[in-house]
Amino acid sequence: MSRIAAKFGGSSVASSAQIQKVREIVEADPRRKVIIVSAPGKREKSEAKITDLLYLCHEMAGLGADFAAPFSEIKSRFEGIESELKVLPTVGAALDQFARELKQGVSADFVASRGEYFNALIIAKYLGAECIDPTEVIFIQANGLVQERTYDLLAQKLSSDSHRYVIPGFFGTGPDGKVKTFSRGGSDITGAICARAISASVYENWTDVSGLLMTDPRIVDSPKPMVEVTYRELRELSYMGASVLHDEAVLPVREVGIPIHIKNTNQPDHAGTRIVPKLSEVEDSKTAIAGIAGKREFAMICIDKLLMNKQVGFAYQLLGIFQRRGISVEHTPSSIDGMNVIVDAAQLAPQSEAVLEEIQNTLQPDKVTLVPELALIAIVGEGMSHTVGISSRVFAALSHKKVNVRVINQGASEVNIIVGVVPEDFHLAVKALYAEFVGSPRSEA
Ligand code: ASP
Repeated sequence: MSRIAAKFGGSSVASSAQIQKVREIVEADPRRKVIIVSAPGKREKSEAKITDLLYLCHEMAGLGADFAAPFSEIKSRFEGIESELKVLPTVGAALDQFARELKQGVSADFVASRGEYFNALIIAKYLGAECIDPTEVIFIQANGLVQERTYDLLAQKLSSDSHRYVIPGFFGTGPDGKVKTFSRGGSDITGAICARAISASVYENWTDVSGLLMTDPRIVDSPKPMVEVTYRELRELSYMGASVLHDEAVLPVREVGIPIHIKNTNQPDHAGTRIVPKLSEVEDSKTAIAGIAGKREFAMICIDKLLMNKQVGFAYQLLGIFQRRGISVEHTPSSIDGMNVIVDAAQLAPQSEAVLEEIQNTLQPDKVTLVPELALIAIVGEGMSHTVGISSRVFAALSHKKVNVRVINQGASEVNIIVGVVPEDFHLAVKALYAEFVGSPRSEA
């Protein structure tokens, strides 16, 4: 029987009531054998996440301040969960020991990891599962990626098909042999690694939304969820600011073609969103676009030079300026006598004057201008490469709303069309594009 790796995020394990839902979900499908859990998240908006409280305790302990208040909040959350689930109480004594360690001085990573650690201990007991210590099997390099041996070690540790395992997310062992965490939200990465190690049929990622939305809900009221999206599309959408899943969580499963299924713990019957290597035929035939994502915070430098196209090495020299200054280049739309460089505005801001000066001195262009604010919108969909008329719909929708398009970019991979507009038109443009494409059957859940 192929197994499922199911990861439950902070809000899905924030309280005993939520953990009861987790048990129902886990027991509803016997293939759900490897369960990855986050630390308890917020039960309501105003509440702090356990991980944030842990970082706070660490900071206060470092300053020699009394961290009793945030610590007692942590302790009462865990003890509350434990007693409400009626599992044998054990975390209290372990937490007292942990408080002593905090006073003596322990690393921030160790402290932060305890949220997942204690939660996994409780949930494993509640599910009657074996709790795995990730420090024995997950080895994280200094750059945050896992060592290759992690997969074999995990596979051995999780080898029994009939057994159920619970594994705390977010941490493993670092190069120095001590506890190391992934970056924030990193339980998603643990989930992906476990899915790959057991060659899972699917990596389920349980959260508090019914999948990925077709666009930003802060701009469009209640956008529809996507039923299916490819890894490639997701990458384009997340890069532009849409995210539910940690960016680095896709790679381990993408490399081996394991699909990810985003599901809602509070609405387990909802279809959610499947992230797949290739769209299923049904979805593919319905496809118009996968989604629309955008971000306002870009800047653009426009360089004009007559006969630029004849000057060998022009682009090389130009991009070298950005490379040496550590500014990453997002896009480079060009014309015969000009090149535009689009970058993250915040990266450029501290050195914008110097960059313009260096371009002037090195390349002696006819003109260099800075557009300090530019919004980019990506209209994303694999189907673009074989659908006629997507771009005409994009531009018709924008012109209808009198949105002036400053920049257009579409790579040969044809998974997206990117348009640049002034920031004031950003919301209007996203709304217009959503209205144009939302009738697409692919959006129907
Ligand atoms: N608890 C960690 C965080 O809040 C990791 C996670 O939940 O994925 O970032």
